[in-house]
Amino acid sequence: MELIQKIKENIRDVENFPKEGIIFKDITPLFYDQNLINQTVNFIKDELINDKIKIDAVVGIESRGFIIGSLLANVLNVPFVLIRKSGKLPRKTIRHEYNLEYGVDAVEIHEDSIKTGWNVLIHDDLLATGGTAAAAAELIQKLNAKIAAFNFIVELNFLNGRNILKKYSNKTICPVQF
Ligand code: AMP
Repeated sequence: MELIQKIKENIRDVENFPKEGIIFKDITPLFYDQNLINQTVNFIKDELINDKIKIDAVVGIESRGFIIGSLLANVLNVPFVLIRKSGKLPRKTIRHEYNLEYGVDAVEIHEDSIKTGWNVLIHDDLLATGGTAAAAAELIQKLNAKIAAFNFIVELNFLNGRNILKKYSNKTICPVQF
């Protein structure tokens, strides 16, 4: 069976989670199947190789972005760097605040975790409005590094998140579209 179809079969729709009216795309069943995870990681790696995109570090966004993100860093043999929500990282951080539907949220990164001029891959499980990935991109730019590409497992097309990411990188890799 085709990879994209296999990934789709391992994503569960959960209605009205975390709040009324949201259909949550639960990708945790994908993590049960190591063979499928390997194929997914290789798919992303091959896209990077085909486009000759050089990556110096993979940055994963809390928390589901840590799982495939760290595996990807491992196969690319580059550092894996964590972006976390406020107050979770122990050392000196820089921070970027961004607007949610109601209120603001913030993401943080250790300020010494990315070197000047690095080409960074930003990874998260799912692209919705793009606000979270754009906030991650702002952090990378504040550290004087470049966003070589964004990568997600799932994209909710109808929210057009991909458009707001174009400002930071012209490459977004995402196998599964809804
Ligand atoms: P956004 O900033 O709107 O692109 O939202 C992306 C972040 O929120 C990712 O970290 C996702 O894990 C999470 N997220 C947003 N919408 C959904 C959804 N419908 N199902 C699962 N996760 C979601």
